[in-house]
Amino acid sequence: MKKMRLILATRNSGKVAEIMHLLEGMDVDAGSLDEHPEVPEVVEDGSTFLANALKKAREVAAATGCWALADDSGLVVEALGGAPGVESARYAGKQGDYQANNEKLLREMRGVPDGKRGAAFVCTMALAAPDGREWTTEGRCEGEIIREYRGGGGFGFDPLFYVPEERATMAELPMERKNAISHRGRALRKMKEILVEILRES
Ligand code: IMP
Repeated sequence: MKKMRLILATRNSGKVAEIMHLLEGMDVDAGSLDEHPEVPEVVEDGSTFLANALKKAREVAAATGCWALADDSGLVVEALGGAPGVESARYAGKQGDYQANNEKLLREMRGVPDGKRGAAFVCTMALAAPDGREWTTEGRCEGEIIREYRGGGGFGFDPLFYVPEERATMAELPMERKNAISHRGRALRKMKEILVEILRES
Protein backbone atom coordinates (compact mmCIF):
# COMPACT_ATOMS: atom_id res chain seq x y z
CA MET A 1 0.00 0.00 0.00
CA LYS A 2 1.22 3.50 -0.82
CA LYS A 3 2.01 5.57 2.26
CA MET A 4 -0.42 8.40 2.93
CA ARG A 5 1.24 11.70 2.09
CA LEU A 6 -0.09 14.21 4.59
CA ILE A 7 0.67 17.91 4.40
CA LEU A 8 0.42 19.92 7.61
CA ALA A 9 -1.35 23.04 6.44
CA THR A 10 0.54 25.52 8.59
CA ARG A 11 3.75 27.53 8.38
CA ASN A 12 3.91 27.91 12.16
CA SER A 13 7.00 25.95 13.21
CA GLY A 14 5.76 25.59 16.81
CA LYS A 15 2.62 23.84 15.62
CA VAL A 16 4.49 21.72 13.07
CA ALA A 17 6.79 20.45 15.84
CA GLU A 18 3.86 19.60 18.13
CA ILE A 19 1.86 17.85 15.39
CA MET A 20 4.88 15.91 14.02
CA HIS A 21 5.61 14.70 17.54
CA LEU A 22 2.06 13.37 17.91
CA LEU A 23 2.11 11.67 14.50
CA GLU A 24 5.34 9.77 15.27
CA GLY A 25 5.01 6.03 14.74
CA MET A 26 2.10 6.33 12.34
CA ASP A 27 2.24 4.98 8.82
CA VAL A 28 2.04 8.48 7.41
CA ASP A 29 4.54 10.47 5.35
CA ALA A 30 3.99 13.87 6.95
CA GLY A 31 5.44 17.05 5.53
CA SER A 32 5.00 20.72 6.17
CA LEU A 33 3.98 23.55 3.88
CA ASP A 34 7.64 24.62 3.78
CA GLU A 35 8.10 21.72 1.36
CA HIS A 36 5.37 23.23 -0.84
CA PRO A 37 6.27 26.85 -1.43
CA GLU A 38 3.96 26.86 -4.45
CA VAL A 39 0.88 26.70 -2.22
CA PRO A 40 -0.53 30.22 -1.83
CA GLU A 41 -1.12 31.71 1.62
CA VAL A 42 -4.63 30.82 2.79
CA VAL A 43 -6.60 33.85 4.02
CA GLU A 44 -8.08 33.02 7.44
CA ASP A 45 -11.24 35.10 7.15
CA GLY A 46 -13.75 32.69 8.75
CA SER A 47 -15.66 33.74 11.85
CA THR A 48 -15.12 30.39 13.61
CA PHE A 49 -12.15 28.08 14.23
CA LEU A 50 -14.06 25.40 12.30
CA ALA A 51 -14.54 27.55 9.18
CA ASN A 52 -10.85 28.53 9.12
CA ALA A 53 -9.53 25.00 9.69
CA LEU A 54 -11.74 23.57 6.94
CA LYS A 55 -10.77 26.33 4.53
CA LYS A 56 -7.02 25.71 5.09
CA ALA A 57 -7.31 21.93 4.77
CA ARG A 58 -9.46 22.16 1.61
CA GLU A 59 -7.21 24.67 -0.13
CA VAL A 60 -3.98 22.81 0.67
CA ALA A 61 -5.46 19.45 -0.43
CA ALA A 62 -6.68 21.05 -3.66
CA ALA A 63 -3.31 22.75 -4.36
CA THR A 64 -1.10 19.73 -3.60
CA GLY A 65 -3.30 16.74 -4.47
CA CYS A 66 -2.25 15.28 -1.08
CA TRP A 67 -4.10 14.74 2.16
CA ALA A 68 -4.05 17.93 4.25
CA LEU A 69 -4.34 18.43 7.99
CA ALA A 70 -5.08 21.95 9.23
CA ASP A 71 -5.78 23.43 12.59
CA ASP A 72 -7.20 26.70 13.66
CA SER A 73 -6.75 27.59 17.24
CA GLY A 74 -6.74 30.43 19.62
CA LEU A 75 -7.40 31.79 23.04
CA VAL A 76 -10.93 32.45 24.27
CA VAL A 77 -11.04 34.70 27.35
CA GLU A 78 -14.29 34.82 29.34
CA ALA A 79 -13.85 38.35 30.71
CA LEU A 80 -13.19 39.65 27.19
CA GLY A 81 -16.39 38.17 25.74
CA GLY A 82 -14.49 35.39 23.98
CA ALA A 83 -11.72 37.59 22.52
CA PRO A 84 -9.17 37.26 21.03
CA GLY A 85 -10.78 34.07 19.55
CA VAL A 86 -10.22 33.71 15.81
CA GLU A 87 -8.21 36.95 15.95
CA SER A 88 -5.63 35.44 18.35
CA ALA A 89 -2.71 35.51 15.91
CA ARG A 90 -3.28 39.20 15.07
CA TYR A 91 -4.77 40.42 18.36
CA ALA A 92 -2.49 43.45 18.59
CA GLY A 93 -2.60 44.19 14.86
CA LYS A 94 0.41 42.53 13.31
CA GLN A 95 0.08 38.85 12.34
CA GLY A 96 2.08 36.56 14.62
CA ASP A 97 3.58 39.22 16.91
CA TYR A 98 3.44 37.14 20.10
CA GLN A 99 5.00 39.78 22.32
CA ALA A 100 2.62 42.55 21.24
CA ASN A 101 -0.34 40.15 21.57
CA ASN A 102 0.71 39.19 25.10
CA GLU A 103 1.20 42.81 26.12
CA LYS A 104 -2.27 43.70 24.81
CA LEU A 105 -3.76 40.75 26.72
CA LEU A 106 -2.06 41.91 29.94
CA ARG A 107 -3.40 45.45 29.39
CA GLU A 108 -6.97 44.32 28.64
CA MET A 109 -6.97 42.03 31.71
CA ARG A 110 -5.38 44.52 34.12
CA GLY A 111 -8.65 45.38 35.90
CA VAL A 112 -10.09 41.87 35.91
CA PRO A 113 -10.09 40.37 39.45
CA ASP A 114 -8.81 36.92 40.40
CA GLY A 115 -11.57 34.36 40.00
CA LYS A 116 -12.83 36.04 36.83
CA ARG A 117 -9.75 35.40 34.70
CA GLY A 118 -10.90 32.10 33.16
CA ALA A 119 -9.85 31.30 29.61
CA ALA A 120 -9.58 28.36 27.26
CA PHE A 121 -7.33 27.41 24.41
CA VAL A 122 -9.51 25.94 21.66
CA CYS A 123 -8.38 23.99 18.62
CA THR A 124 -10.33 22.69 15.67
CA MET A 125 -8.61 20.23 13.34
CA ALA A 126 -9.72 19.51 9.82
CA LEU A 127 -8.54 16.69 7.59
CA ALA A 128 -9.22 16.91 3.87
CA ALA A 129 -8.71 14.04 1.44
CA PRO A 130 -7.67 14.64 -2.17
CA ASP A 131 -11.08 13.24 -3.20
CA GLY A 132 -13.00 15.87 -1.21
CA ARG A 133 -13.89 13.90 1.95
CA GLU A 134 -13.51 15.86 5.21
CA TRP A 135 -13.32 15.16 8.94
CA THR A 136 -13.11 17.58 11.89
CA THR A 137 -12.33 17.33 15.62
CA GLU A 138 -12.16 19.82 18.50
CA GLY A 139 -10.06 20.05 21.67
CA ARG A 140 -10.12 22.47 24.60
CA CYS A 141 -7.82 23.25 27.51
CA GLU A 142 -9.14 25.32 30.41
CA GLY A 143 -7.00 27.73 32.39
CA GLU A 144 -6.53 31.27 33.71
CA ILE A 145 -4.76 34.37 32.48
CA ILE A 146 -2.06 35.39 34.97
CA ARG A 147 -0.59 38.86 35.51
CA GLU A 148 3.05 38.24 34.59
CA TYR A 149 5.04 36.00 32.26
CA ARG A 150 6.07 32.57 33.53
CA GLY A 151 8.18 30.04 31.62
CA GLY A 152 10.22 29.99 28.44
CA GLY A 153 8.74 27.09 26.46
CA GLY A 154 5.89 26.86 23.98
CA PHE A 155 4.82 29.86 21.94
CA GLY A 156 2.15 32.53 21.67
CA PHE A 157 0.10 33.09 24.83
CA ASP A 158 1.69 30.13 26.66
CA PRO A 159 3.58 32.19 29.32
CA LEU A 160 0.34 33.90 30.42
CA PHE A 161 -1.88 30.80 30.40
CA TYR A 162 -1.92 29.06 33.79
CA VAL A 163 -3.30 25.52 34.05
CA PRO A 164 -4.44 24.95 37.65
CA GLU A 165 -4.23 21.12 37.51
CA GLU A 166 -0.60 21.37 36.43
CA ARG A 167 0.24 24.25 38.79
CA ALA A 168 2.14 25.67 35.85
CA THR A 169 1.76 27.84 32.80
CA MET A 170 1.78 26.22 29.39
CA ALA A 171 5.23 27.75 28.87
CA GLU A 172 6.56 25.92 31.97
CA LEU A 173 5.52 22.48 30.74
CA PRO A 174 7.81 20.17 28.77
CA MET A 175 6.44 19.51 25.26
CA GLU A 176 5.34 15.98 26.26
CA ARG A 177 3.19 17.35 29.02
CA LYS A 178 1.83 20.24 26.96
CA ASN A 179 0.81 17.77 24.24
CA ALA A 180 -0.94 15.59 26.83
CA ILE A 181 -3.23 18.34 28.03
CA SER A 182 -3.35 20.95 25.28
CA HIS A 183 -6.25 21.85 23.02
CA ARG A 184 -4.18 20.84 19.99
CA GLY A 185 -3.06 17.56 21.60
CA ARG A 186 -6.66 16.67 22.42
CA ALA A 187 -7.97 17.58 18.96
CA LEU A 188 -5.07 15.77 17.34
CA ARG A 189 -5.53 12.57 19.35
CA LYS A 190 -9.15 12.48 18.20
CA MET A 191 -7.94 13.07 14.65
CA LYS A 192 -5.36 10.31 15.08
CA GLU A 193 -8.19 7.85 15.81
CA ILE A 194 -9.86 8.94 12.57
CA LEU A 195 -6.58 8.58 10.64
CA VAL A 196 -6.00 5.09 12.08
CA GLU A 197 -9.47 4.10 10.88
CA ILE A 198 -8.87 5.57 7.42
CA LEU A 199 -5.50 3.78 7.12
CA ARG A 200 -7.10 0.53 8.28
CA GLU A 201 -9.81 0.77 5.65
CA SER A 202 -7.52 1.66 2.75
P1 IMP B 1 -3.77 30.23 14.17
O1 IMP B 1 -2.37 30.07 13.70
O2 IMP B 1 -4.64 30.97 13.25
O3 IMP B 1 -4.37 28.93 14.65
O4 IMP B 1 -3.69 31.20 15.40
C1 IMP B 1 -3.33 30.71 16.56
C2 IMP B 1 -2.96 31.81 17.50
O5 IMP B 1 -3.54 31.47 18.74
C3 IMP B 1 -1.46 31.84 17.70
O6 IMP B 1 -0.84 32.85 16.97
C4 IMP B 1 -1.33 32.06 19.19
O7 IMP B 1 -1.39 33.41 19.46
C5 IMP B 1 -2.58 31.42 19.75
N1 IMP B 1 -2.33 30.00 20.10
C6 IMP B 1 -2.83 28.89 19.51
N2 IMP B 1 -2.38 27.78 20.09
C7 IMP B 1 -1.57 28.18 21.07
C8 IMP B 1 -0.77 27.49 22.02
O8 IMP B 1 -0.69 26.25 22.09
N3 IMP B 1 -0.08 28.26 22.86
C9 IMP B 1 -0.11 29.60 22.82
N4 IMP B 1 -0.80 30.31 21.96
C10 IMP B 1 -1.54 29.60 21.08
